[in-house]
Amino acid sequence: MSDCLFCKIVAGEIPAEVVAEDDRVLAFKDINPGAPVHLLVIPKRHVANSSTVEEADEALVGHVVRVGCQVASEAGLSESGFRLVLNNGRDAGEAVNHLHLHVIGGRALDWPPG
Ligand code: AMP
Ligand code: ZN
Repeated sequence: MSDCLFCKIVAGEIPAEVVAEDDRVLAFKDINPGAPVHLLVIPKRHVANSSTVEEADEALVGHVVRVGCQVASEAGLSESGFRLVLNNGRDAGEAVNHLHLHVIGGRALDWPPG
């Protein structure tokens, strides 16, 4: 997708602080962190959001979640805990329409979210 912000990050056209990468996914620091640790894990292939995930994407989305847990562990969050978030649509505040898993931690997080 030529005008997708996260596709541009995957293509290296926009810089990001990458913390993990493999052939299918990229993990990088959120530019506007809401907690001491705030990472995003995205599929390299454009997938719009979790509402539009198809059966063929299930393994990829599972891999995004697994890498999210790995980068949380590497950030030192295994013991203290962390939150994985997929925002969908307006009320959730979804701003970028390329599937991205937020990995948030490093402080106690409110529940339910505000
Ligand atoms: P969402 O509201 O779930 O769509 O989340 C989009 C996230 O992308 C926000 O937390 C933004 O801070 C983050 N973001 C936007 N632009 C960039 C960028 N260039 N690099 C890293 N994170 C970004
Ligand atoms: Zn994209």
